[in-house]
Amino acid sequence: MKLIFTFICFISTLAFAGSLKSLNQEKFPLSLPKLDYATDSLIQAVDKETMEIHHGKHHQTYVNNANKELPSTKKTVIEILKAISTYPAAVKNNVGGHWNHAFFWKVLTPDTKKQAMPSRLQKEIETQFGSVDQFKTEFEKQGAGRFGSGWVWLIRDENRKLQITSTEYQDNPLMDTAAVKGVPVFGIDVWEHAYYLKYQNKRADYLKGLWSIINWKQVDEFDREALKM
Ligand code: MN
Repeated sequence: MKLIFTFICFISTLAFAGSLKSLNQEKFPLSLPKLDYATDSLIQAVDKETMEIHHGKHHQTYVNNANKELPSTKKTVIEILKAISTYPAAVKNNVGGHWNHAFFWKVLTPDTKKQAMPSRLQKEIETQFGSVDQFKTEFEKQGAGRFGSGWVWLIRDENRKLQITSTEYQDNPLMDTAAVKGVPVFGIDVWEHAYYLKYQNKRADYLKGLWSIINWKQVDEFDREALKM
């Protein structure tokens, strides 16, 4: 009996790995998630050194600082994000920084099979934006247009409509402070630390380069989950 229970727990852990649910329901202390791929496997778009520093240093720092800010909270990450206006800026920056990066690593992949956009998602994007190319153009425009540091997102907004939006610093559309609220299904980090070593000041080139390493299978799964939230 105990063995069966352990097995069921193992299977449900697998099922939620890479889900919005697993990101949202994480409890403190937070931990740095392992990457699903090698740091040198995305080099057509992101160089190894950037991946190592970005994941191992930047993301780790958000994790460490979030744990320092909230040493004894019993709340889940999503409970904190939804009430972020009641917390100090350091919590917003570091819990936001952790959620955003944990999400970001999931939407990248070197696996060409996962890079094919599932037809359900493609139809949804075509319905909303006209075509996948028009969606990409608009996404790049908002990413390049975000002044300073921040993120560009594809979300399911409060009417469950697909919408592109951007946020400053480590904010995200789950936060109660967001101008446009919703559930992220895709998102790109446009901080200089995400691209400067390979692209220097050319953020638009970085955004264009990333299309070749997007895990559309994962985005499709995030979107199916977002529709039920
Ligand atoms: Mn970053």
